[in-house]
Amino acid sequence: MAMLLVLGAVRSGTTPAGGGGDAAPGSAATALDTELARRFAVAQQAADADGVPLEITSGWRSARDQQALVDQALERYGDPAEAHRWVLPPERSSHVQGLAIDVGQTKGAYWLAQHGLEFGLCQTYANEIWHFEKLPDGATECPPPHADSSWGW
Ligand SMILES: [Zn+2]
Repeated sequence: MAMLLVLGAVRSGTTPAGGGGDAAPGSAATALDTELARRFAVAQQAADADGVPLEITSGWRSARDQQALVDQALERYGDPAEAHRWVLPPERSSHVQGLAIDVGQTKGAYWLAQHGLEFGLCQTYANEIWHFEKLPDGATECPPPHADSSWGW
């Protein structure tokens, strides 16, 4: 259920209603990090060779989109503590910085969780099989994943 919520990321067709700045302060990203996109493309080819469907279901998000996900989660879960396990505020979200991807299908996500390191991609949340970020520069192993996103609140 929670996975559906997060994977069903808001495809924002909304336009700022005059005056409302869309970008969070200090966040200039307007697209997915090119190195992250490159690593994913290589992984996707390998997954395809294994017969596994792998695609990005959510990449860069505007601060506005991220806030919409926060609002959705709060509505969905009722309990803020539970909602915060699944979504970060815009100023903390790697998606808003263009530094995170959510992948599908489920089979593809599990494939990438298993093989990601070969491509410099790491699952960063234990409760989100679908969320990946770049292996940190200089690292040879993925850092231990956060239990969930509640650290950022
Ligand atoms: Zn994510």
